[in-house]
Amino acid sequence: MSQQFPYYFLLLLFLFQCTTIGFHEKKIREEMAFGEESQFRVCLIAEPDITKEEISDLFKAWNEELSFYQLKALPVELAVMERPGFWGTDILGYLMEHQLTKDCDRLLYLKGRTWGDITFEVLTLGIFVGVGLKLEVQGAVEGQSNTRGYIKAKYISTIQMLFTSPKSTLIHEGYHLLGCGHQLFMKECYEKIRDVKLLLTDPNRDPNFFPVITTRGKKILSRDQVTTFTNKD
Ligand SMILES: [Zn+2]
Repeated sequence: MSQQFPYYFLLLLFLFQCTTIGFHEKKIREEMAFGEESQFRVCLIAEPDITKEEISDLFKAWNEELSFYQLKALPVELAVMERPGFWGTDILGYLMEHQLTKDCDRLLYLKGRTWGDITFEVLTLGIFVGVGLKLEVQGAVEGQSNTRGYIKAKYISTIQMLFTSPKSTLIHEGYHLLGCGHQLFMKECYEKIRDVKLLLTDPNRDPNFFPVITTRGKKILSRDQVTTFTNKD
C-alpha cells in the first residue's frame, strides 16, 4: 500500500495541474480591493468547426470567474482559419509570429476537433488509462508576454470530460493571460490581478491597451512591448 502512495500522489498532482491553477482562498479574495470594473478585449482566431454559441458559452463561464476581480473579457472574432500545424507548439509558434492588432488586448486561438485529433485521442487513451498520463495538452499561453494562447475549445464525450472541459481550460489559461502562474493557493494570483489593474492608472500605459505583468514579473504597458518580444525571437 505504502509503495503505491507516490504514484497516486503524482497522479493527483498531475490532474490538479491540469484542471486548476490553484485553490481559491475566498476570504482573502473578498478582503482585497480590485477597484472598478474594467474590460479587456480578447481577439479570437477560431477553427471552422467552432460555433458562435460555443464562443458565447465559453466567455459566459470565464466572465463569471472574472467577476471576482471586477473584470470582464470581451470576445472579438478576428478570423476563422485551419490549424497551422497538428501540435500545440505549432499553434503557439503561429501566435508568437503575430502582433496584437489595434483592438486586441489578448489573442486567443480556439482549437477545434478534427478526425486527426480523434485518432490521436484513441491511440493515446490506453496510455492515459494505464499510467494516468495525458499526452494531449488542453491549452497553453506563451510566457514571454502572457498575451497570446490557445485552448482546445471542443470536446465530445471522451474520458477527458471527467477531468476537464473547454470552460475550465479557458478559465485556467485565462489566469495565465492575466499573468498568473501555477500555485497551490491563489493569494499570489489575486495580488497579481490587483497589480495589473493598478497599472491601468500608470501614466506610461498605452490607454488603448490592457496591461499585463508576465509570470516573470515584467510589466507590459503597450502593444509595442509585445511586438518587441516577438521580434527578438
Ligand atoms: Zn497552466
